[in-house]
Amino acid sequence: MDSSISSCTEQKKEKNIAIIGAGISGLLACKHAMEKGFNPVVFETRPNIGGAWSSTMDSTKLQTPKDYFQFSDFPWPDSVSETFPNHNQVMNYIKSYALLLRLLVSIMYHQSTRKIYLLGVCGVVPARPFRVHEVDFVILCVGNFSDLPNVPDIPISKGENAFNGEVIHSMDYGAMDKIEAAKFIEDKKVVVVGNHKSGLDIAAEVVKTNGVRHPCTLVFRRAIWSGYKSDQKISNIFTSSDFKNCITGSSAPFYRECIHPKIPQLAILGYSESPSTLFTSEMRSKWLAYFLAGKFKLPTIKQMEEDAKEWEKVARRYYNNDDENYKRACVGALLQIHCNDLLCKDMGCNPKKKKWPFQELFSTYHPSDYADI
Ligand SMILES: Cc1cc2nc3c(=O)[nH]c(=O)nc-3n(C[C@H](O)[C@H](O)[C@H](O)COP(=O)(O)OP(=O)(O)OC[C@H]3O[C@@H](n4cnc5c(N)ncnc54)[C@H](O)[C@@H]3O)c2cc1C
Repeated sequence: MDSSISSCTEQKKEKNIAIIGAGISGLLACKHAMEKGFNPVVFETRPNIGGAWSSTMDSTKLQTPKDYFQFSDFPWPDSVSETFPNHNQVMNYIKSYALLLRLLVSIMYHQSTRKIYLLGVCGVVPARPFRVHEVDFVILCVGNFSDLPNVPDIPISKGENAFNGEVIHSMDYGAMDKIEAAKFIEDKKVVVVGNHKSGLDIAAEVVKTNGVRHPCTLVFRRAIWSGYKSDQKISNIFTSSDFKNCITGSSAPFYRECIHPKIPQLAILGYSESPSTLFTSEMRSKWLAYFLAGKFKLPTIKQMEEDAKEWEKVARRYYNNDDENYKRACVGALLQIHCNDLLCKDMGCNPKKKKWPFQELFSTYHPSDYADI
């Protein structure tokens, strides 16, 4: 089967597009699809936009410098002078973007997408309460760091039941307000299991609340973020076991890091490793909108599979080959620039965005460089 989506999209002048999730990735997918004249519908489980940023612990700040975590055509307001804004500032920024671009009218809240069936070349998305939406293209933006916590299976005799204290996931701690969270940890001996952003943020909050009376212990096996079962979350949405198996896991091939060659009527945003999810999701949202508008066609399945394999080979070259987390290597950040070049070429745009050759050679690329696409 050759690029079946092009046959699907060519047959139908009016394309129905479903976007699952109204976090940053879903909002971006919506914005760029609207810009190309589509009327996408966004299904969101929660009563609000912002995804992971709508419920975080009080001390959470952006860990990506804000210049890289910026909508390409919507700079941060002058009032935010910090390089790493706090979560309230991030949420306000996301809300202003959605309001300005009138994205909110496209969102259906309290709509958890339970299952995706893929029929022929078109997708069907049933939502609660048992409503079925038939669409031509689905953009899955359900998030990599939310909803399904990764809690290890510990034998009953050794886990929570053998321990007299309380065990909670960082997601539940993050859902508490500032006062509730401080009360929860006050005067307790706290062990944080797992490293990276949330673990370190919680450890810092414990230190702030308890001082030296009850020092916090941080235990971790590896210095990577693995707090959520993001693969399982995606897999749970598909009815077909074939799709479940082929779409998830570190070896799943994704063309341009968002379309599985064998499911070209569906794209996944926000899953590729990236130093700035916003930047990565926006570049792919632009690319998807161009594709859906018929500005270019996907290559054949075989070509897409070979391309995805090449990416994997390059990523593995710079990391421990046997480690399933090879996609998290720092080289991923450098590959983003090359990937953006490829996306630009697909869209028929010049990837060189700097005014002067000297800048092209020595200055860094930011989201704002791509504002004109
Ligand atoms: C504490 C913390 C700090 C972070 N810091 C950074 C940072 O500094 N830089 C960075 O680049 N990234 C950071 N991230 C990663 C963060 O995930 C991204 O910044 C960004 O929020 C991802 O947006 P998203 O839209 O892809 O996913 P999310 O924000 O997770 O949004 C997904 C949305 O999909 C909805 N959804 C899920 N399942 C369904 C369903 N079945 N049906 C309907 N809706 C559904 C969810 O309710 C949610 O609203 C951080 C994450 C956390 C948790």
